[in-house]
Amino acid sequence: MPNRKLFRPTKAMINLDAIRDNVKALNDYLGNETSIIAVVKADGYGHGDVETAQAAIEAGAKMVSVATPEEAVRLREFGISEDILVMGPSPADFAETAMDLNITVAVSGAEWLEEVCLTKKFDRPLKVHVKIDSGMGRYGVRDVKSLAEIINFTKDSTQVIVDGVFTHYSCADMEQCETTDEQYAKFMEFVELFTEKPRLVHASNSAATLLYPNYKLDAIRFGIGLYGIAPSEYVQQKLPFPLKRALSLETKLAHVKRLEKGWSVSYGATYQSLEDEWIGTLPIGYADGLRRGLHGQEVLIGGKRVPIVGTICMDQCMVKLPEEMPVGEKVVLLGKQENEEINMEEWAERLGTIPYEIAVSLSKRIPRVYISNP
Ligand SMILES: *Cc1c(COP(=O)(O)O)cnc(C)c1O
Repeated sequence: MPNRKLFRPTKAMINLDAIRDNVKALNDYLGNETSIIAVVKADGYGHGDVETAQAAIEAGAKMVSVATPEEAVRLREFGISEDILVMGPSPADFAETAMDLNITVAVSGAEWLEEVCLTKKFDRPLKVHVKIDSGMGRYGVRDVKSLAEIINFTKDSTQVIVDGVFTHYSCADMEQCETTDEQYAKFMEFVELFTEKPRLVHASNSAATLLYPNYKLDAIRFGIGLYGIAPSEYVQQKLPFPLKRALSLETKLAHVKRLEKGWSVSYGATYQSLEDEWIGTLPIGYADGLRRGLHGQEVLIGGKRVPIVGTICMDQCMVKLPEEMPVGEKVVLLGKQENEEINMEEWAERLGTIPYEIAVSLSKRIPRVYISNP
């Protein structure tokens, strides 16, 4: 990607060493028998898909996975050469591209394979991972008969290789949830049906990896944890090793003014100064992913928490400064400054959502700047 000069000071700093350290710590925790599949869907949870995939691979991840065919093709175009799994459904007409680019696809029925193999003859086999729906209710084989059809179809096929079988948990990040144990047991019953065990049997996402070490199997799919974010508050409390956050979001004061008592700030004039105040303007708004629901959220300036006042505009927002400050003063919206820290969980709570959604909502307009440990 071309390195364009940045003028607006708003940027997301991505520390790739944090990602590498998370993968190394995870590798030590998992041991040699279990390999890491780095989940870089949705542009690496907003951190950049190619860059985070590369960092994860350098640190020991053996494979990467994404949600859609397009995401997989993009990784190949940018030179990722490890195995790539598309975890979600792929239409049958993706099979030829998948074979050409050595992309592994998830399958959930023999009809898909029949359709693909009837219409095409491949020079080399297409790699698939069979997806089992053990209770998530989203995508995958749900009954023994359907799995038997897949096994029968692929057993002597020269066109298709079953390289893996996997499932996905619905409640692994929650306290006291028997669902995970039930799903694991159900999944293993399905796995037993294979006449030849596929190379990679995998089930765990970040939460299950961190909380259920006994269920690690041949590989785990590590998404949110890669970026140093815990899947939930509960998992955060139970982490077997610390995770390092990779992303911080920063900008600089673009304008500072003295606002006399009784003047208002921003659309709708919802905020009025109760006294003479110092108001700073930040060059970031809801088009960047600073959602309007974040009004009242604090940012860090000079190591102190400072509130956003008035409604958040598309491209700008205002903060109430404790004192006069210079234009160009650094502002941290997500991350650490001196002894204070604001993380995605804090935004998520204010917005009634989860940190995953915050990470993927930071828009394209925010440039991602890649750094290593200072
Ligand atoms: C997104 C996803 C993951 C990764 O989940 P995290 O909670 O981010 O670790 C793993 N498996 C599947 C099927 C997914 O869709």
